[in-house]
Amino acid sequence: MDPIRDETAAADAITARLDEVRARIAQACHDAGRDPASVELIAVSKTFGPEEIAPVIAAGQRRFGENRVQETAGKWPALRAAHPDLELHLIGPLQTNKVREALSLFDVIQTLDRPSLAAALAKELARAGAPPAPRLLVQVNTGEEPQKAGVAPQEVDAFLAACRDAHGLAIEGLMCIPPADEPAAPHFALLAKIAARHGLKTLSMGMSGDYETAITLGATHVRVGSAIFGHR
Ligand SMILES: *Cc1c(COP(=O)(O)O)cnc(C)c1O
Repeated sequence: MDPIRDETAAADAITARLDEVRARIAQACHDAGRDPASVELIAVSKTFGPEEIAPVIAAGQRRFGENRVQETAGKWPALRAAHPDLELHLIGPLQTNKVREALSLFDVIQTLDRPSLAAALAKELARAGAPPAPRLLVQVNTGEEPQKAGVAPQEVDAFLAACRDAHGLAIEGLMCIPPADEPAAPHFALLAKIAARHGLKTLSMGMSGDYETAITLGATHVRVGSAIFGHR
């Protein structure tokens, strides 16, 4: 066993998979008649460490997604110090008692999903010395799954109004995680329809198994983990 050669091989495999995802995004944009620059790839690096993330950064990837505040606090500050132009997206649930820490770590919070979190974000952002406001997406529970986070489709209008009027939060767009056991396309179409109704330009939808479908239906951000980093 040669550990250095093993690590190099693993990094090469990750870089090759990243190239393939990029090529498939470009092809999906081409097929849908969309500008490839209109779709941003978020590399979902949860559970992977700096040794797997480094080759992806070296290949030019700058947007990453993580689902846990604690894990992000442990692994990203050093990478950020070395690469100040990184952009980190929170794509997992946020507890109100972790809001302050999340604001210090993330550029984009994709999982604004309930009034108590909107209130906690607004309160923290109003504090003297608070970091600049992150970009915010509202998570919509398009499948209305009881165990899943997100605002129910029929409650999105009222929630967006409350974010704006009661909390002074600017919402940039919507995100969804369709039910695992259903075709994703109707969920992506529903999210796009709700966003269009509100003039919201950012649509975060599509993961390793369905990002091309999401691009066809208007995704501006696709969140791809295992197709780049391998199985978790
Ligand atoms: C883990 C995760 C992803 C990436 O999933 P893959 O199937 O590995 O691409 C995307 N979005 C969210 C919210 C996730 O938690």
